[in-house]
Amino acid sequence: MNYLQLSQESIKNNGISQAIALKLIQTSDKNTFELLAAANKIRQHFKGNKINLCAIVNAKSGKCSENCSFCAQSAHHKTDVESYPLMEPQKIIKRAQTAEEKMGATCFSIVTSGKTVKTKEETQRIGEALNGITNETNMNRCVSTGTLNKETILELKKKGLKRLHHNLETAESYFANVCTTHTYQERIETLKAAKEAGIEICSGGIFNLGESLEQRVELAYALKELDPVSIPINILNPIEGTPAHINYKPISPLAVLRLIATYRFILPDKDIGLFGGREFALRELQPLMFIAGANVTLVGDYLTVKGQEASKDLQMIKDLGLEINAIH
Ligand code: SF4
Repeated sequence: MNYLQLSQESIKNNGISQAIALKLIQTSDKNTFELLAAANKIRQHFKGNKINLCAIVNAKSGKCSENCSFCAQSAHHKTDVESYPLMEPQKIIKRAQTAEEKMGATCFSIVTSGKTVKTKEETQRIGEALNGITNETNMNRCVSTGTLNKETILELKKKGLKRLHHNLETAESYFANVCTTHTYQERIETLKAAKEAGIEICSGGIFNLGESLEQRVELAYALKELDPVSIPINILNPIEGTPAHINYKPISPLAVLRLIATYRFILPDKDIGLFGGREFALRELQPLMFIAGANVTLVGDYLTVKGQEASKDLQMIKDLGLEINAIH
């Protein structure tokens, strides 16, 4: 396969066909570096040498009513994850300031466990935190608070919300294997409500849950239809006590890189990043995620798992001759 020629076609046509995408994700280990080099060309074309850094705060943890098979925070699974109610706005704002000043993050997301924001008080508190982050930092403001309707999104928009994160998690054809307490369609509706409210959307998924390569590609095309600005790719880091841990089968670092590269070919001009599971899944190959086409990553800690030191991430980006994007 002529990967470089395909990269030019992806740039010219804003993507590739689903049949070609499937071939790319099936690339052999031997040919993977050629695929990565071609994906790198697409990233360079659309993103230059700039890398965006996101940071998150797990503002409310545990006791979730939903049963997502990979999630340490579901009340359906017996994990030793810490549970706590929604943080005070000042604490959230402080976390955002630290992420900006000490880690170079340009986008900050307030993440809460649970199907949705349950009460008016919680919405107000998240609004207050967004307002504070707007006034006290230069960061892009994002929330990841589960299912939301347009009315609540508009309320948060007034407080400074710019972007809503809500993953599709997996392909529609595999969703019922991952979660049975809510539907894939509900996830689509939240994303559509955000778009109607004039809020950018960030949506991706979590991989290595037992889905097929076809289903990894299926998810990419579903995302393409929704047109998010940013696509986070998470790789399962199995947590003891979750169903995903019981059924876990490792994924090779090269397979993760092929996944990122294939997404870059399908969604050439989007922000694409490797988020959860980065250190765990790529190990010593972490820098290659950018060569595979990623232009975003998460600095600092994940939701329930510690991330590597932000200084290590910043050094890795510098060593590759890349730069942190100041405007996100
Ligand atoms: S992924 Fe979200 S909705 Fe699913 S169990 Fe975890 S916190 Fe709940």
